[in-house]
Amino acid sequence: MLELTDRDAAGRICKWTVGKHTIATPNICIVVNPNRMPVPIADLKKEFKADILITNSYIIRRSKEFSERAVKEGLHKMLGWDGPLYTDSGTYQMFSQGKADVAPEEIIEYQKKIGSDIITPLDMFTLPVDDLKTAKAKLALTLARIKSARVSQPDINLVGPIQGGRFLELRKKASIEVAKLNPDVFAIGGIVPLMMQYRFRDLADVILTCKSNLPAQTPIHAFGAGHPMVFALLTAFGCDLFDSAMYSLAAERGAYLTVSGTHQLSDLKEFPCSCPLCSRLEPKDVLKFTEKERLAWLARHNLYATFEELRTIRTAIRENSLWELVQERARAHPNLLIALEHGLKTYPKLFQELDSVSKKSALMWGGAETAFRPEVVRAKEQLKRVPLKKLFRKEPFGKVPSALKSVYPFGQSLTNRSEKSKKVKPAEVVSMSLDYQYGKGAGKPFLKADVEVSRKTGRLRRLWSKKKELLGTFRPSDGFFLPSLEGVRLLKANIKKVAVKDPDAAKFVSEGRAVFAKFSSPEKGILPGEEVAVVHGGKTIAVGKALLNSAEMRQMKRGVAIEVRAKILGDKDDEVETGS
Ligand SMILES: [Zn+2]
Repeated sequence: MLELTDRDAAGRICKWTVGKHTIATPNICIVVNPNRMPVPIADLKKEFKADILITNSYIIRRSKEFSERAVKEGLHKMLGWDGPLYTDSGTYQMFSQGKADVAPEEIIEYQKKIGSDIITPLDMFTLPVDDLKTAKAKLALTLARIKSARVSQPDINLVGPIQGGRFLELRKKASIEVAKLNPDVFAIGGIVPLMMQYRFRDLADVILTCKSNLPAQTPIHAFGAGHPMVFALLTAFGCDLFDSAMYSLAAERGAYLTVSGTHQLSDLKEFPCSCPLCSRLEPKDVLKFTEKERLAWLARHNLYATFEELRTIRTAIRENSLWELVQERARAHPNLLIALEHGLKTYPKLFQELDSVSKKSALMWGGAETAFRPEVVRAKEQLKRVPLKKLFRKEPFGKVPSALKSVYPFGQSLTNRSEKSKKVKPAEVVSMSLDYQYGKGAGKPFLKADVEVSRKTGRLRRLWSKKKELLGTFRPSDGFFLPSLEGVRLLKANIKKVAVKDPDAAKFVSEGRAVFAKFSSPEKGILPGEEVAVVHGGKTIAVGKALLNSAEMRQMKRGVAIEVRAKILGDKDDEVETGS
């Protein structure tokens, strides 16, 4: 179960609670194989701060040494790991060895017996080359096996693998059908061959089709995605979990991973990395190691590169600069850039629903695909709400009314081409800003308001009624108008509403506390970052910023849906909170 705390693009930072464990996502499940451990598990925890491990129950079950021990001691004790442990079912091993030597029920039972926290049913590995008939049959069997596992073991944390091969209509069907079975993780399977062949455009289609059809409360695992070069793109496209055997597999073939691709250790004259390993040695020193030492050394560097990228991504989400990071990372390979542009152009609806309407960071021009980013698409659409006068040109938006020069994203973008804006009167800024933000005609009731302008910056600060009631504040960071309760009254139907039906919850909200998702009944079409009115029994009780969109408010059972701006509710003449 997820609780969303930060978001950007279609990516999100969540607290993920699974069994008795809670970890942050996006995250990576580090693959461990007790037969081959280039990095000891104690080090994964201490040195790399790994949060979650994944191991293959099929391999353990077949191992003479570990099969019985895992049952007797439990997997956690056997591995020396007290965090969450995810187990895979051996789908890939049975597929690659062309034999099915364990029944689907048996492998579920075995995972349960060894104490796995997250259990994977035996799904049918579907290849990109499988034809429609084969992919359909494999999907039907996969669905039947998830269902049977759900029914026979209702108390386990179950993975819902999503197959369907390269057929997007099957991926859509799989997403809808698997979601009905209410698994604890959605695992998008069969994508490793696409990544191995650098078919990132096809990968984008699969991921974005699934994301468009999956509910918000459950994490999405891009099964087998372990190269740090794809993490940023896949996070921005909605994935929450990755897993990596790559750090060790790459090390076995002398490969050194970076966010911009893979190098052969033997080709490197110096290390383009400052991890504790790379900063101490030169490639020629590592080449003198024994094979075992070299493998362990490379696996460790690869883990450093992996975890560094995860932290970079989470930081970018918190700062709302994830698209900038993805645009930078996409320059590592033309196919990544093609995938990014294709995703933005082909799934605009998904990004409009998930990407916040305002951001903490400036929108940076990062190449031609910037024009297809959701912020730009939305801005162009919303410009249709306002009269186009006193225009100035700013790319990639085109012609923008000068009255909107301080409003997000026009005033908060660093682009390659921009003209100087023209002078406008404060009343024009009021009416244009409100129409732009809330819809055509929203600004009209505010035309008679007294406008308070900052003497220092010349920007609008607050609006007051003739009776000296505060109508709202303009947030300095993005020029958005944050209405007071009186302002909400004037906005009428132009501000979207969220009902809180529970009387106790409504009382807390009216005192300035956040609206929790489980108590929210939103109207349709609310977008993250939008100002919304909270109503109870037909009365507006609070105003705040939506952290979730309407569908997410309905689907999520934990966490905040609306951050309420408390101070507005108290003394109306008081200083108004302008943050958040
Ligand atoms: Zn390094």
